[in-house]
Amino acid sequence: MNTSLPLPTNDWTARAAALRPDGRLVINGERRASLSGATFAKHSPVDGRLLGPVARGNTEDIDAAVASARQAFEDGRWRNSSPRDRKRVLQRWSDLLLSHRDELALLETLDMGKPITHSRDVDVPSSANCLAWYGEAVDKIYDEIAPTSSKALALITREPMGVVGAIVPWNYPLIMAAWKLGPALAAGNSVVLKPSEKSPFTALRLAELALEAGLPPGVLNVVPGFGVEAGEALALHMGVDAMGFTGSTRVGRRMLACAAQSNLKRVYNELGGKSAFLIFADADVERAARTAAASVFFNQGESCNAPTRLLVHRSRLDECLALMKDEAKRFVPGDPLDDACRMGALVDEAQLQTVLGYVAAGREEGARLDLGGQRARTSSGGFYVEPTIFRGVDNGMRIAREEIFGPVVGVMSFDDEHEAIAMANDSPYGLQASVWTGQVDRAHRVARRLRAGTVHVNQYDEDDITVPFGGFKQSGNGRDKSLHAFEKYTELKTTWLRIAESPDKA
Ligand code: NAD
Repeated sequence: MNTSLPLPTNDWTARAAALRPDGRLVINGERRASLSGATFAKHSPVDGRLLGPVARGNTEDIDAAVASARQAFEDGRWRNSSPRDRKRVLQRWSDLLLSHRDELALLETLDMGKPITHSRDVDVPSSANCLAWYGEAVDKIYDEIAPTSSKALALITREPMGVVGAIVPWNYPLIMAAWKLGPALAAGNSVVLKPSEKSPFTALRLAELALEAGLPPGVLNVVPGFGVEAGEALALHMGVDAMGFTGSTRVGRRMLACAAQSNLKRVYNELGGKSAFLIFADADVERAARTAAASVFFNQGESCNAPTRLLVHRSRLDECLALMKDEAKRFVPGDPLDDACRMGALVDEAQLQTVLGYVAAGREEGARLDLGGQRARTSSGGFYVEPTIFRGVDNGMRIAREEIFGPVVGVMSFDDEHEAIAMANDSPYGLQASVWTGQVDRAHRVARRLRAGTVHVNQYDEDDITVPFGGFKQSGNGRDKSLHAFEKYTELKTTWLRIAESPDKA
């Protein structure tokens, strides 16, 4: 791949035309075709262009990748290196992401359709920060000694799991991969990563940069392919010790079933959401409404934590809707390769049809379409949808219960705090929630009662690698990010040592 085209950084269209991404697997430090030789064609949702063939990994490729990871784990080429050495590799890797920022951003945008400035200013630096953060953490974590009797010493230590399987989605391909790879690799594991078939390219490039940073071959293997082929083979593999999965709740269930059918590997699921955003009568409605719209339309609405259920006190409903519609004007779908674009393309035609199907379902069930709901930029050859706002939504409607994963928000009203909390919690999901109020008592009261992994108060966009990310209920069981992520990729071991009496007289 040509990584240093002599073009100005903002000439994305010309750079895109020159890009020839490599879709081959990375196993044991080498680029390879799939063992069957099979490939699939990956098209860009931006304009339908062919990005290139991608190796179609299957069971035999997963077997090879797991064998490579196992060999690397057993001979200790990575796990026996000192935490300080692992830190340095992860730091170098992070630096390489930043020095290849434009290239990675372009790949991400062409692969899954988000605006180039978001890929460049959010996805790449955030992924680089994640890798460096786990590297920097790993030589600062101590194990424990239990307070047992003086006749013994009990050490409580954390050891790497062994071979970790990671399966990630397409909405933040780099960031989701980094959230798994940072803690899993820093802890000394070997990893087999399966990116989504809808966004395979940055994960493959990430593995090349890891090798360049000094990660030994075999420690990180990447097998692109389809969920039911490469994904299932990984989830069912007897040689995989733990599975870090991010994706839909439907496939998360399958992850648990695969573990039950195979070796009871640990399964950590980060799944879907239908996050509630509560605006009370005493809130700063201007900021609340604009934040809700900006958060739900960011990334084309393809965010697990998008606040797709807006609960507004009846007295502020009209004002809130007017402000949201005004904010939505900043999210008119545009060319993702244009620096001015704020909302890009949905990932593929199937996702477009899913979103339009939910718009139709919302109308059929009696919700009122207040804004958008149409396909946009059809002549581009890509898959774009207008920012869409439904009012008059009932919490029992499909658009309020099911994850849409597009730029669609349903607005509901409530009359009192109890009703608002009950509506917010009446969902199979529990990823995030947000409370907007001018009263500190109410903020604490409501935040405590909301059944969600993260609750925001008077904001939604604050985020940091230092805090856990994950959900209650059917939004999953694991937590990505923060030091807690190490818990997923390490086993807890107790080692008892007998301390014999001294043969000398006291
Ligand atoms: P998906 O579940 O369809 O696919 C996710 C990954 O699983 C892909 O790599 C896919 O190939 C693979 N897969 C699919 N079927 C499989 C099977 N039978 N066995 C093994 N692997 C299989 O999800 P998606 O459409 O790629 O991503 C969107 C979903 O991800 C949304 O539900 C979103 O909420 C969720 N998500 C959650 C978080 C979080 O942290 N909670 C973050 C981002 C996305």
